[in-house]
Amino acid sequence: MKDSQNNEVRLEDILNTTPIAVSWSSLSSGRIEYINKAFSELFGFVLGDVLDTESWFLRVSPQPAYYQNVIAPWIHKYRDNASAHDLSATLFCKDNSVRHISMCFSTIGDKQLWYFNDITDHWVAEERLRARSDMLEMVAKSSALKDILNVIVKQIQQESPLSLCSVLLFDKDEQCLRLGAAPSFPDVYNQAIDGVKIGLNVGSCGTAAYLGQRVIVEDIYDHPYWADYIQLARQAEVAACWSDPIMSSKGDLLGTFAIYKRFSSTPSEKDFELINFASNLASIAIESFRAQEALQKRAYFDHLTELANRGYFFQQCETLLNQSREKHFPLAILMMDVDHFKKVNDEFGHKTGDLVLQMLAQMSLSILRRDDLIARIGGEEFAILLPFTEKDEAIRIAEQLRESIESSMVLSLDHQEVFFTVSLGVACRQDGDCTVDDILNKADKALYQAKAAGRNCVFLAMPQSNTLF
Ligand code: GH3
Ligand code: MG
Ligand code: MG
Repeated sequence: MKDSQNNEVRLEDILNTTPIAVSWSSLSSGRIEYINKAFSELFGFVLGDVLDTESWFLRVSPQPAYYQNVIAPWIHKYRDNASAHDLSATLFCKDNSVRHISMCFSTIGDKQLWYFNDITDHWVAEERLRARSDMLEMVAKSSALKDILNVIVKQIQQESPLSLCSVLLFDKDEQCLRLGAAPSFPDVYNQAIDGVKIGLNVGSCGTAAYLGQRVIVEDIYDHPYWADYIQLARQAEVAACWSDPIMSSKGDLLGTFAIYKRFSSTPSEKDFELINFASNLASIAIESFRAQEALQKRAYFDHLTELANRGYFFQQCETLLNQSREKHFPLAILMMDVDHFKKVNDEFGHKTGDLVLQMLAQMSLSILRRDDLIARIGGEEFAILLPFTEKDEAIRIAEQLRESIESSMVLSLDHQEVFFTVSLGVACRQDGDCTVDDILNKADKALYQAKAAGRNCVFLAMPQSNTLF
């Protein structure tokens, strides 16, 4: 007996020196009889805090369902074996911090010997690598920015389960923040935040964006930055908000990344590191997405005039033409060509010719309506799609374009006034029209007639013969 007591003391001493958290419990009663020093250091509990394995696992599980569906079946499966296979689990410590643990147990007689390995650092590193590659893959696949940001937010919330995160995007023109991703916040909160002007005392994010620096609000209900937003915070049930500005690689403001807590809280070193990682990842995501978007834009838009290009026009025309046929709404097409443009180039130089094309694009955009589409489909040739437009309205718009262009001018590089005119052909969708080519050909023929009639005029394509206006 004396020997066995001596042996136990020695065993405890040995176990207290091992860096692995160890405990043992009685298989029959479940009572936890021993925890070593590393166990107390890892989880924060002393022996008096822990009674039996079930109540302890319930206490440290993220939800009771996690114990019931994951941990309890695992214990049951290996109960009668000499040793269990490792289980990786997310567990809460006594101070509610989260650790990722690889655990196993072995059974010796009535004793279950438990081992807990803290794999948090390794888990976090792996999860972050995965999040980064998931995010880049989504960018490459041209996913919507909101979807990409949602993945980042969910990743951070998984790493820090007691946090709620949001990404807001900076709208430079309006100097406000737009909703990027905040999947855990109520709609009423997201609607109120969307479009909020940045400035001092505009919550943590509005202030962080305005100052261009991290803002830590530990208690929303007792902070001037939040004085005007307390009601909103109540609705979202949040009490602390730490926000980091998201900066581009060139130092421009892209938005904000915020971590919220349900209770007033002070960030730890690890939290700061997490905020850094999150805002970095969001910055890479937003910049990569915008670069991809610019590439796509280049594929659809004309570099000189910034109007749509031929490919985009044909694509849109096809879609609208089909809809117009199915839903029986009128649609017209204009073809517009600069008169004697070669002469402009010859007389004033190619650069001045370019200025004429740019001016013409601006002029047309100022006249056309929101749903109209104008594209540069050739050197000095433009096509205009007018949805929901009857013949008379199309002719009126064509005339308006012609007149405004006739009365505008650009200054050549040597400061001479350069005037220019356009000819236009108008075609309306008839029941018989079936393809984009058909209707464009008709508009082109009317344009050809406008040229033949002396230029600077509008011709309408008619079933029999085209008409001058
Ligand atoms: P018309 O009234 O019959 O249309 O005569 P035009 O001179 O406008 O027609 P033509 O087709 O003979 O000449 C078109 C000219 O447009 C020739 C070409 O050099 C010029 N052009 C095409 N693309 C550009 C461009 O991007 N910039 C400039 N400056 N000129 C261009
Ligand atoms: Mg021309
Ligand atoms: Mg031409």
